[in-house]
Amino acid sequence: MLFTEIIGQENTKQKLIQTVKDGRISHAQLFLGPEGCGKLALAIAYAQYISCENRGEHDSCGECASCKKYQKLIHPDLHFVFPVATTKSGNQKPISDDFISEWRKSILDNPYIKLNQWFATIGVENKQGSIYSQESGQIIRKMNLKTFESEYKTMIIWMPEKMNISAANKLLKMIEEPPAKTLFLLVSENAGKIIQTIQSRTQNVKIPKIDDENLSNALKNKFKIDENKISDIVHLSNGDYAKAVEVINSDEENRKNLNYFTSLTRLCYKADVIGIVKFVETISKIGREKQKNFLSYSLRMMRENFILNKNKPEITYLTTEENKFSQNFNTFVNDRNIMRITKELNQAFLHVERNGNSKIIFLDLSLKLIMLLKL
Ligand SMILES: [Zn+2]
Repeated sequence: MLFTEIIGQENTKQKLIQTVKDGRISHAQLFLGPEGCGKLALAIAYAQYISCENRGEHDSCGECASCKKYQKLIHPDLHFVFPVATTKSGNQKPISDDFISEWRKSILDNPYIKLNQWFATIGVENKQGSIYSQESGQIIRKMNLKTFESEYKTMIIWMPEKMNISAANKLLKMIEEPPAKTLFLLVSENAGKIIQTIQSRTQNVKIPKIDDENLSNALKNKFKIDENKISDIVHLSNGDYAKAVEVINSDEENRKNLNYFTSLTRLCYKADVIGIVKFVETISKIGREKQKNFLSYSLRMMRENFILNKNKPEITYLTTEENKFSQNFNTFVNDRNIMRITKELNQAFLHVERNGNSKIIFLDLSLKLIMLLKL
């Protein structure tokens, strides 16, 4: 992660870079800031800058061997600790390393990830994830290793407030008597929940919310949305990039599509033909562009649910409402039907585009879904 890839936060970037230039990198730092401000991204960019073999004035080079590994989050001297949970497959003593590939994918896709999005990614349903006591053995082991390629071993601990008390105490001991050339970067949004002794032994790096101008520019670059709407979203999300993306994704049309999708799949599952005929009446009146949007939306939802069902969420991005519905629905989308469902939805999309009779198209689609959702 390069500093330039992070939205705004110029002051913080400058201060961090200065610590490296002055050779006064504190061995335990607490990056503290509100949700969606980019604190995890900053911690990673900072670690990458420290490790870079060809540091520039304002950023890592992005091209040396170290940077290349950092950009995939696979540098051997970079370690991550984050909350995890027991899984359906029965792992009762989970540690971060059990989820490291999902973690890398999620963070590379969205370094502004929220805790609940991370939990949705690893299939934690309605239970609390945690950094368990068994994690501390890993922390001690890793920080006592020799460095492989860099001057420092860096451990980034995301959400230390989720640390179980015995793990926190062991971490505290390591921070108090650190092995040589170790760097702990704690990334937190709730300092009040971290044990006081850890807080008092780390250097605080306070990170503010993203300023409106930088947030607005970042949204303009990433999404094709008109200016007025952007200023609404910026206002609503209050410097929280993750929230802004959520607002964009859960705008009105999205909510309508979720309603249609919920109705259609429920009716099909119950094989409620009368209900289906009514649904088809409704959907045939919304116009072709909206019908196409609904079909694209359905394709995305089916895909996301298939990934959820396979329990290997890669880039599942679901809004809170979508996630709620999908927790049960995902069991109906599986290896046996995903290809055919995808094919039917694509075909319906094509037929709508070619001005087919929408009542016939949606009725036909529904009847096929009755059969496919039972496979
Ligand atoms: Zn480099």
